[in-house]
Amino acid sequence: VTVGATAGVSLWPSDSALPEELLRKADVALARAKAESRGDVRFFQPVMDADLRERSLLQNELKQAIANNQIVPYFQPVVDLATGDIRGFEVLARWHHPARGTIPPLTFISFAEDSGLIGDLTFSIIRAALRTARNWSGEPTIAINISQTQLTDPKLADKLLGVLAETGFPPHRFEVEVTENALASDIRMAKFVLHRLKSQGVCISLDDFGTGYSCLGHLAQLPVDKIKIDSSFTRTMRERGQSATIVKLIIGLGRSLGLPVIAEGIETAADAEALLQMGCATAQGYYFSPPVPAGAASELIGRRLGYDMTASA
Ligand code: C2E
Ligand code: CA
Ligand code: CA
Repeated sequence: VTVGATAGVSLWPSDSALPEELLRKADVALARAKAESRGDVRFFQPVMDADLRERSLLQNELKQAIANNQIVPYFQPVVDLATGDIRGFEVLARWHHPARGTIPPLTFISFAEDSGLIGDLTFSIIRAALRTARNWSGEPTIAINISQTQLTDPKLADKLLGVLAETGFPPHRFEVEVTENALASDIRMAKFVLHRLKSQGVCISLDDFGTGYSCLGHLAQLPVDKIKIDSSFTRTMRERGQSATIVKLIIGLGRSLGLPVIAEGIETAADAEALLQMGCATAQGYYFSPPVPAGAASELIGRRLGYDMTASA
């Protein structure tokens, strides 16, 4: 048995003269010490209280936002590079805040993960997305993002399959995007969840490939159906030889393993054309369309996005 200790300290009388308040403040300092570096000591500082209040305010606000459907799905098309046809959409969360306007996910997803709200948030978005998209013409696929914390839930697959049944959305049109980092934290559980989803016809995409704990073992061990090349490589591939090499390598890897590859972050016709030349079949990015609300997304269906580019190729 290895015993460790972490301590939070408050001082009498400068922090408070009241015993309860002193204990509360020592507790706040302890929580901070545990979060920052276990086995250490932290003295209470007023800013810790302010941070705590801010977090609990934000947590309440986020809870309300989820309950009131203020967090909505936006849809970014995934396009066939050779024809410009839409193959599917990736669902990306947006918070329509009554006072602060539209808030992007990077500012609230990690908070939702830490505060245990990510499950409610994800399922509320997935339900809304699938209800809207189930009747779209051309039967596009719908891809959703799953967080690391969710992949440790043994019931995740059944919950997702439950939403598909409830909304009447066909599993073969549903895709789940997971990052390699999410897989690495509990590979056995991830394997279990992903196999269960795959057995019901759901497609699994490996997101942000090449940026995390990239491990070819993941491709061999897990039921992966698609690989997504991170935008950090595609956006720099025309200036940096190294990025271009990585992009080519991932496309080649996908081809050898028989896995389709989706390139992310395509902002120009030149990037799209370069990827087509390298043998990449599908892509998404601002060049084709930014993520848009459901109404605008359904209007994109049937159009050939970036077609000018393919005409010149
Ligand atoms: P991601 O899954 O890698 O999503 C791609 C991000 O790239 C999106 O950012 C998208 O808007 C952005 N993007 C698309 N095309 C371009 C382009 O051409 N140029 C540039 N510069 N960016 C482009 P967004 O919507 O801000 O989402 C950021 C991340 O937040 C996502 O990265 C995903 O990891 C996470 N996220 C978004 N929605 C959800 C959600 O519902 N659940 C979970 N767990 N994570 C989500
Ligand atoms: Ca994604
Ligand atoms: Ca990505």
